[in-house]
Amino acid sequence: MAYAPRMPFSIFGLEAEILRAIQQAGYVRPTQVQAACIPKVLQGHDVIAIAQTGTGKTAAFVLPLLHRLSQGKRQNPSRPMIKALILAPTRELAVQIMDNIRAYGQYLPIRVAAIHGGVDEDAQIKALRKGVQIVVATPGRLLDLLGRQQLDFSLLEMLILDEADRMLHMGFLPDIETIIGTLPKRRQTLMFSATLSKEVESLARRFQYQPKIVQIGKRSNPADTVVQCVYEVPAHLKNALLLELIRQPKFQRVLVFCRMKDGADRLTNFLKVAQMKVAKLHSSRSQDQRLQALQDFKDGKIQVLVATDIVARGIDIEGVTHVVNYDFPVNPEDYVHRIGRTGRAEAQGDAISFVPRQDLNLLDRLELFIGRRLARKRLREFNYHAPVPPPMPGEKPPRRDWRKRTRDMEARQAAQPAKRAPQRPGNERREKS
Ligand code: AMP
Repeated sequence: MAYAPRMPFSIFGLEAEILRAIQQAGYVRPTQVQAACIPKVLQGHDVIAIAQTGTGKTAAFVLPLLHRLSQGKRQNPSRPMIKALILAPTRELAVQIMDNIRAYGQYLPIRVAAIHGGVDEDAQIKALRKGVQIVVATPGRLLDLLGRQQLDFSLLEMLILDEADRMLHMGFLPDIETIIGTLPKRRQTLMFSATLSKEVESLARRFQYQPKIVQIGKRSNPADTVVQCVYEVPAHLKNALLLELIRQPKFQRVLVFCRMKDGADRLTNFLKVAQMKVAKLHSSRSQDQRLQALQDFKDGKIQVLVATDIVARGIDIEGVTHVVNYDFPVNPEDYVHRIGRTGRAEAQGDAISFVPRQDLNLLDRLELFIGRRLARKRLREFNYHAPVPPPMPGEKPPRRDWRKRTRDMEARQAAQPAKRAPQRPGNERREKS
């Protein structure tokens, strides 16, 4: 982890209760992103912070936020008002941020609620009615509750977008604009991400006032603690290669990314039949199933977690030894975030990507994006020329290749220009948070 040289946490003048919680977390020194952000946030500046995955961004905004809240005007302790809103793209990340706030704020009288889909609204409404100073939310449920007048942002002072580039992406942007429209104009706005293009940065600035830019390391670069490599393998042999690899003892905690939910289902079934300890996590699972899968993975009860990109952003799981891109990510940013689930804090990790011939163009694009060529590896004694295996009992035929589907759709649209629907911004497919 990139630490700030010879700098103690006490240098920032944070409340003693916060320092005590930091000590309890075992942190000795601030990381670089914390050292750069904490003073700027304490001074009240808007900030855009770009730093590699797993380098302590959450504490970089939570610690000064807690300090500012504890310094602010005394509120009615029996019913505090919302002072800060943190937006995150997935439920799991919202819950993780809330847990971080609770840990760093355990000695302060600060109340926080997580507002996200997949669980009963009533409990969330109850928590809001009791009064909280901090709300951590995914956009969908927050908009529902806003529509039902369950949130009062009139005294809000701080807005934080975690995974800011995801939140400002076309799919989320209309929701974010609506939410920001309900907030006071005079506020402090912070944006955090590991990847942020110059274009998204200028979009972010629309919601900020003269933001200070903190950039640690190169933009859009994976963490240095992750060793990356690529296996060029025919698509029909990806299952067999994965199994060969994860049967090696060093593959202790393996996070496998699939592009689609049904692909994740099929791969999970295959690994179960092969007697592997495996669970799956995607947006069609219930919230209980999602939480259980993540917990079992964290506790080491399962060796392999097969997931879609909803786990790619921000989720902090200790000791992930390997990330496997079973399906190569379509967007280079997603690659950076996916592999950032390993090599976190001071740990080392391995990221392996399977690249069948039809994905070689995606690999080229990625290498251009990260500015380096990835090492090619081959597993000795693996038969890269084996024929297509017969389907497993009860196996559904795979859905047609997504690229072919896109090509077919484009061809159909081109043939009928008059019927073509106008493109609405934000109308693209995205997984529910
Ligand atoms: P984050 O990037 O916020 O998800 O943090 C990544 C990991 O680094 C988490 O497990 C944090 O607990 C840990 N961490 C954050 N700040 C520090 C620090 N100053 N010293 C040691 N570990 C830290």
